[in-house]
Amino acid sequence: MDKTKLLALLEEKKQKFTEASDRIWETPELRFATYKSVEQHYSVLESEDFDIEKGVAGMNNAYVASFGSGHPVIGVLGEYDALSNLSQVADLAEEQAVETGGNGHGCGHNLLGMGAVVAAVGVKEFLRDTGQSGTIKLFGCPAEEGGCGKSFMARSGLFDDLDIALSWHPSDKTEAWGSGSLSVYHVDYQFKGQAAHAAGAPELGRSALDAAELMNVGVQYLREHIIDEARIHYAYKDAGGHSPNVVQSSSRLFYYVRAPEIEQAKAILERVNRVAEGAALMTDTELNIHVHSACYNYIPNKTVTYNLQENLELLTPLSFSEAEIAYEQAFFDTVSEQVKANIYESIRHSFPELDSDQWTKLAQEPVSTPLYPIEFFGKTIGSTDVGDVSWIVPTGQVFVACEPHGTPPHSWQWVANGKSSVAHKGMMTAGKTLALSAIDLIENPELVEKAKQEHLDFLQGRSYVCAFSDDVMPDE
Ligand SMILES: [Zn+2]
Repeated sequence: MDKTKLLALLEEKKQKFTEASDRIWETPELRFATYKSVEQHYSVLESEDFDIEKGVAGMNNAYVASFGSGHPVIGVLGEYDALSNLSQVADLAEEQAVETGGNGHGCGHNLLGMGAVVAAVGVKEFLRDTGQSGTIKLFGCPAEEGGCGKSFMARSGLFDDLDIALSWHPSDKTEAWGSGSLSVYHVDYQFKGQAAHAAGAPELGRSALDAAELMNVGVQYLREHIIDEARIHYAYKDAGGHSPNVVQSSSRLFYYVRAPEIEQAKAILERVNRVAEGAALMTDTELNIHVHSACYNYIPNKTVTYNLQENLELLTPLSFSEAEIAYEQAFFDTVSEQVKANIYESIRHSFPELDSDQWTKLAQEPVSTPLYPIEFFGKTIGSTDVGDVSWIVPTGQVFVACEPHGTPPHSWQWVANGKSSVAHKGMMTAGKTLALSAIDLIENPELVEKAKQEHLDFLQGRSYVCAFSDDVMPDE
């Protein structure tokens, strides 16, 4: 089966994929509670003859769908969780919620998950057509946003028999994913004090709110004495209550501790824990520390990433109709002049062979069309639970332009754009790219061996151990 025939076959099935992605957009669900979203995946995968193991790694909505037998075993990672407080009317180029405070697909995971399904279906068709040895495994991974679903799957050993893992993410531009990411711990600090009348009997009160505030102040001082690349963020989950005349007896802070390597994050976390203990000591309150989850930094495998780039070259530059460009223009108009200037700088940096007129033209595209060159380990972005997978097995990912140029993830613009034909096209391009790379890997065992050797060289004898203990459970 040649590549052109495979691409045409996937295009014939496009409607099935886009409808499932749109249904997921319409029922945005959070973290591990992605019950309706995962059903959309099951219905497509069952119609495509995959064997599905549902409810893996102690998570109701995680799955492994397989087809084929023998090696190489290629894994594709899919996601389908949404974000809270990002409800937004589809196709509307101004911020307006469908439901105030509701959820929304602000990170495009409706597309991400279905794009992964497209890839798996492509590989399945190839395996069935050629009868070659090889297995495709699609991993349905809940709770990418703040829950590290893949880390729980990694802890259960689900990725251990893979030879290679592939994934992608919607973006506002197209490139093979060369950057790393930060490792992160997600930790809850709960203080318990003693309520009392704030004026009548303050001496009887022990303020959990004071403890939380002292902890934040302590961490503020700590920030000066950690490595530059580390990040510590926090949010109040519970500030005790709304009455100033009561000594607040409970408080809860949610912290993210990020650093390039998981050991660094762990070392900083231990210092944050001591600051929290100090705050509890100062206020005579009780402290409970609860690790929710954690994930490793992402390590792109260069062999796999270069191959993904070669396949992206076959499918780019992206092309869009006048109607699609006009649609995206309305969103591009919401982007600030500063961001537009940054886009120009990034294009100038990435395409030195072009002239200034061409840089301007590309920078003003409302949806980006060119393929960017790979930049390995440029500026690290946030964190992703694909990190854990990349420490277990050689992993490669791509970004594909699905979103209005210059708009960031977790924005209302991404939600509004999530069912557009531009988004659907990006999803198909991503699925096709991953399918083509999986097929290259199946047909060229030496490529798999090269990727594995690179992975071993990187590890230098280190091996993956889940960053949190066995008693940490996925919590909805
Ligand atoms: Zn995302």
